[in-house]
Amino acid sequence: MVSRQVRRKTRDVFDTWRCYLYNSFSMSELAQLYKLQRIDLKIQEHKKALNEILHELMEPEALVVARIDIERQKQLLLKTEKKRKEQDWQEKELKEKADKLGKELYSGRVKNSRELANLDQELKGVKAKLKAVEDELMELMEREEELDELVKADSCQLKTMEQDWQQKKEGFLERKQEIENSMGHLVKERRSQASAINPQIFKLYEEIRERKGQAVVTMAQGQCQGCRILLSTREQQQVKGENLVQCSSCGRILFPG
Ligand SMILES: [Zn+2]
Repeated sequence: MVSRQVRRKTRDVFDTWRCYLYNSFSMSELAQLYKLQRIDLKIQEHKKALNEILHELMEPEALVVARIDIERQKQLLLKTEKKRKEQDWQEKELKEKADKLGKELYSGRVKNSRELANLDQELKGVKAKLKAVEDELMELMEREEELDELVKADSCQLKTMEQDWQQKKEGFLERKQEIENSMGHLVKERRSQASAINPQIFKLYEEIRERKGQAVVTMAQGQCQGCRILLSTREQQQVKGENLVQCSSCGRILFPG
């Protein structure tokens, strides 16, 4: 019993408030609300554009990959260069050793045939090692040259990519600044527009906007442009008159359009 009374009282309060809204509402207020809606839509567009710009401002993946690739090539070049220098030293040492052994072998100082055979064997061994080192050295030098050319060409390409990106980035940053400036004006405009609207109506507007994204929609050919439902003749007449009418289906506020 008590609960029913409370419910009735609540409904009465709600109806009174609703009645107040509906009766005190004027066409100019609806137009004010519609103006507020237009500002909010612009703000939404700005937010979307800003998000897109922020996405565009992320460094392109191709550039990141190119930079990693070039770093890897540089490391490989350094490694090859180090190895080539080691082989250079080894070649020099083996040449000296072979020279020394050759001189000793043909100096005539060693008479013992076994010693001569040992020397000859050792010289052959050193020469075989020298040949292997020289072959490897040749390969390393070719590889080093290839890598050096590759690093130079890729560095040049990377530089062009970075310059292009820098140019694009500057354009994006300029656009971002423009959007932010425009957004600042819109926020101020919204604040001023909102203050011109009845606080209760503004509260209703905000509630619908929170739920539906857009609180005010136009009515076109008797249809709510928010949910596309065909409105009753009575509703259509109310919209065309100076009334605040919420769509019976989606709850959005209807504007005659
Ligand atoms: Zn609707």
